[in-house]
Amino acid sequence: MSRGIIPRLFIIIPCYNEEKVLPLTAPLFLTKLTDLAAAGKISGDSRILFVDDGSKDSTWEIIKQLAAEEPHYQGIRQSRNRGHQNAVLAGLMEAKDRCDITISIDCDGQDDINAMEEMVEAYMAGSEIVYGVRNNRDTDSFFKRFTATRFYKLMNRMGVESVYNHADYRLVSARVLQSFADFKEVNIYLRGMFPLVGFPSTSVYYKREERLAGESHYPLKKMLGLAVDGITSLSIRPIRLITGLGFVVSLLSLIGLIWILISHFTGHTVAGWASLAAIVCFATGIQMLSLGIIGEYIGKIYMETKGRPRYIISERTEEDP
Ligand code: UDP
Ligand code: MG
Repeated sequence: MSRGIIPRLFIIIPCYNEEKVLPLTAPLFLTKLTDLAAAGKISGDSRILFVDDGSKDSTWEIIKQLAAEEPHYQGIRQSRNRGHQNAVLAGLMEAKDRCDITISIDCDGQDDINAMEEMVEAYMAGSEIVYGVRNNRDTDSFFKRFTATRFYKLMNRMGVESVYNHADYRLVSARVLQSFADFKEVNIYLRGMFPLVGFPSTSVYYKREERLAGESHYPLKKMLGLAVDGITSLSIRPIRLITGLGFVVSLLSLIGLIWILISHFTGHTVAGWASLAAIVCFATGIQMLSLGIIGEYIGKIYMETKGRPRYIISERTEEDP
């Protein structure tokens, strides 16, 4: 399938405390947008939509300034910091009725903006979702590279379908977003959710660069948090693992019981008593672990039933007609 019309593009850019890097990268996004429009790949009324994720520095002032000077720039601001995933979601939901396609990208210049052209071409060739996949990690530290690789492995093993080495640089059509809007869950992990929406998809590959300025907001702690959120929001495999573990432990207990009985009848009661106590402790440990994991899911159910808004926009620079 190929498409006839020139699509209107919204580039969605989450920003949290990015006053150092935004003045550097904003013009790069604009140049890319105008180049694509000049080449007839996207329509001239395409936009760059910054989503300020409740920054505490002057990021919002910079966005307002940019929007005042250049009509291609727009901004929305979340009422407080809600995290990267929610910021991207806010931008996508804002854009979905005003465009044909969106591309979400970080504002720090790490993701190669030149991949956008290929993404739009893939859309024109019929894909509704185009995943940006980094094909190198040379610029990351060994630690970041190691934890990131583990991260994808863990997610897949835990039953979360996601594209390897794809973060949140992706093209999504408005059509997909209309369906995606019906995913009402509060705990969101976008890169694991878009594969669930379906529609034809493909990947484009790019080289990931260093951050142009400022610092990463994803230390190990947040990455682990994201992994836990992703797994518990999208998969019940951990519960299955616990069930499996339960079987193994029961089997071991049976063998232990036979051993204890033999010890008892041969008169070694003191030794038997000790092993029994050890088994009790072990079983208690497993039960605690199981309760913990089940509790995690109950916690999620609890949060979902609250039906809290996933984002609240407190300000915007302008409304497009
Ligand atoms: N970000 C956000 N809210 C947050 C943390 C980060 O909107 O609470 C944005 C940030 O401004 C950046 C993107 O998410 O555009 C990715 O963050 P970062 O570059 O710090 O992560 P890394 O690339 O190191 O994984
Ligand atoms: Mg980054």
